[in-house]
Amino acid sequence: MRALQLPGWKSDPVFVELEDPHPGPGEVVIRVGGAGACHSDLHLMHDFDAGVLPWAPPFTLGHENAGWVHELGAGVTEVQLGQAVAVYGPWGCGACSRCRVGIETYCENPAAAPAPGGGGGLGLDGGMAEYLLVPSARHLVPLPPGLEPVTAAPLTDAGLTPYHAIRRSWPKLAPGSTAVVIGVGGLGHLAVQILKATTAARVIAVDVRGDALAVAIEEGADEALTADDRTVETIRSLTGGHGADVVLDFVGSDVTLQQSAAAARMMGDITIVGIAGGSIPVSFFSVPYEASIQTTYWGTRPELVEVLDLAARGLIRPRVTTFPLADAGKAYDELAQGRIQGRAVIVP
Ligand code: NAD
Ligand code: ZN
Ligand code: ZN
Repeated sequence: MRALQLPGWKSDPVFVELEDPHPGPGEVVIRVGGAGACHSDLHLMHDFDAGVLPWAPPFTLGHENAGWVHELGAGVTEVQLGQAVAVYGPWGCGACSRCRVGIETYCENPAAAPAPGGGGGLGLDGGMAEYLLVPSARHLVPLPPGLEPVTAAPLTDAGLTPYHAIRRSWPKLAPGSTAVVIGVGGLGHLAVQILKATTAARVIAVDVRGDALAVAIEEGADEALTADDRTVETIRSLTGGHGADVVLDFVGSDVTLQQSAAAARMMGDITIVGIAGGSIPVSFFSVPYEASIQTTYWGTRPELVEVLDLAARGLIRPRVTTFPLADAGKAYDELAQGRIQGRAVIVP
């Protein structure tokens, strides 16, 4: 089969020919129905030197996958041939106390995981190919009726990651509260939808792109602000001077982190999801009193079930632009140039 691989660090992806994968005991091969192109893949292509991450290229890209069960390894009884499934992407050891409750993102025995902190498309072969080898049936979540793999694929990361970040801040998102979404791309457009579907917070979206702000408004954002040096002032004035209860930063640069901290309300949450590599100083006077600052990585398997339910019931819906596998490079180019609205999904 043809696969789009990252050949090395600081490299552009290339197409290679691979043997079709076959499952060993407990494993499952999926025929890929959709593989999302995540901005993290651009970071993988450009930002990392050898040794920074605990795994290394070459591997097939695509960590946001859904498809149909194609071949079952010995002993697999949890799924049936032909069944439509979403792939839970972070593959932990499966046995530690975090993995046992589905928090495989924060596996505490990474040495026993197939790729520490990673999964298919992150250290191991991912979904930008016709077939994807999944090391355990526990990573497969059956799609609820009405949900196709091409729509479900982005839900496994662009949906799950903001859902996890928002869910942990639910207590601060009561009626009267304000949530700020910085960066309304693949993750951010779903963050707006998830905030609207699961909380009563007022939503302020911020982006540098006019078309992303138009998407934010269409998805239900109450305000959409062009990111500039007045962003913080505008958020403060829209919140009666208080600031935002929850700021979700889907960029993570020095500039957006500074804005996030400055726009947050006392006792608010500042959640860093974007991995642009920025930092903010934390000292007694640099952030609002009792503000919590956290990074979040992806989400849990139970949360993926919840996200799929939201989508199956029509409460959230990813905006998807599809590309055939041969045009995957074009999808990444358009993503890098800020020309994708919502998510680009490769359909092999
Ligand atoms: P994307 O390219 O689809 O969206 C990013 C958006 O941010 C774009 O709309 C862009 O115009 C906007 N933007 C850029 N600079 C901005 C600025 N200064 N102010 C406001 N908006 C700005 O990317 P994505 O796939 O949604 O990913 C977003 C980030 O999240 C990336 O850094 C990605 O690597 C990271 N990510 C993190 C996790 C995690 O688990 N923490 C998971 C997936 C992706
Ligand atoms: Zn991702
Ligand atoms: Zn584990």
